[in-house]
Amino acid sequence: MNIHEYQAKELLAKYGVPVPAGYPAMSVDEAVEAAQQLPGPLWVVKAQIHAGGRGKGKFKELGPDAKGGVRLAHSVDEVREHAAEMLGKTLATVQTGPAGKQVQRLYITDGVDIEKEYYLAILVDRETGRPAIVASTEGGMNIEDVAHESPEKIRTITVDPATGLMPHHGRAVAAALGLSGDLAKQASKVLASLYKAFLGTDASQIEINPLAVTDKGQLMVLDAKVGFDNNAEFRHPDLEQLRDLTEEDPMEIEASKYDLAYIKLDGNIGCMVNGAGLAMATMDIIKLEGGEPANFLDVGGGATKEKVTAAFKIILSDPSVQGILVNIFGGIMRCDIIAEGVVAAAREVNLHVPLVVRLEGTNVQQGKDILASSGLPIIPANDLGDAARKIVAEVKAPVAA
Ligand code: GDP
Ligand code: MG
Repeated sequence: MNIHEYQAKELLAKYGVPVPAGYPAMSVDEAVEAAQQLPGPLWVVKAQIHAGGRGKGKFKELGPDAKGGVRLAHSVDEVREHAAEMLGKTLATVQTGPAGKQVQRLYITDGVDIEKEYYLAILVDRETGRPAIVASTEGGMNIEDVAHESPEKIRTITVDPATGLMPHHGRAVAAALGLSGDLAKQASKVLASLYKAFLGTDASQIEINPLAVTDKGQLMVLDAKVGFDNNAEFRHPDLEQLRDLTEEDPMEIEASKYDLAYIKLDGNIGCMVNGAGLAMATMDIIKLEGGEPANFLDVGGGATKEKVTAAFKIILSDPSVQGILVNIFGGIMRCDIIAEGVVAAAREVNLHVPLVVRLEGTNVQQGKDILASSGLPIIPANDLGDAARKIVAEVKAPVAA
């Protein structure tokens, strides 16, 4: 789960992380009120969408010369003008893709004078299975670009979770950022607070870009992107209220109700698979055969009839789906149960696109018999390659006049 910048900063502030004062605003009036509560003489009006690159982003409804999604203002009137221009518009950034995201909230913050910008993040490093601190002197820029063009400017420091964050980690970060004296001390403190927040919220990532040195010699977090580990959601009922459903794909929300791992993609072949690895392999083989998957969908180990039905409905509610490939390995779950689920679901949702089913594993023959005797136009497949070829052929076949 991801949250907005203003929510991330409010959360981090509770852990002692230095952030500029600010208030969220849902309307121009609220933006003006927020600005009046801040001292000035500089304000920042920031679009709140779940994506970075807002500063360099473009509003689709405004001309190419219009300012982006992070704007400095020198008066309350200017805050009002920016707010009026930004609210309700669609902001496209490198992270949103060309479709962009509608701006429904703003964050009005106290503007600071920046001497230098740094990058600092804590995330889970899957290779080492440890929290990793990523630090770079190249703040304020797209970190993927830095990684590509000057990887030597990015330092990664892993933390042994058994011993936790040690003073030497703070010193290593300060050194990586080229900070000394009081600023080095501040860097250690900021890191310790961020690490506490990272552990305390079961975050999967905390990305600060930029971490800025102000003209007053203070380290400040000017932008924060925080994501949480969904598997730890139950431990943080308080964080659930930070969820902004308008930022999430409606089908992904529906899928999460049934504990289905669903991610929408751009193709036209709907996939229903059990197991994330098998789902990835299925998508790969569809692509290998020249097709494009419309989604990633893992129904999980215990794929019940209810889950299979919900999965079918979700796949079919996507108008770009022109065919479905079901690829299920019956291990704990027997193939005959899966087949019953597929048949019941196909009847219930009134299937209107070709359906290829590949079953393998326990009770596979019973499963195939159920599909064959269902009277439904289900196309059976013998293995993964066969299944992919069949569904790609079905989707590509010209529609009969
Ligand atoms: P992003 O573009 O989505 O990453 O949004 P950021 O919050 O990182 O803002 C983009 C850029 O705006 C930053 O890298 C800063 O250069 C600038 N910026 C943000 N806040 C301030 C501020 O308080 N004062 C000044 N002078 N610039 C700011
Ligand atoms: Mg940023």
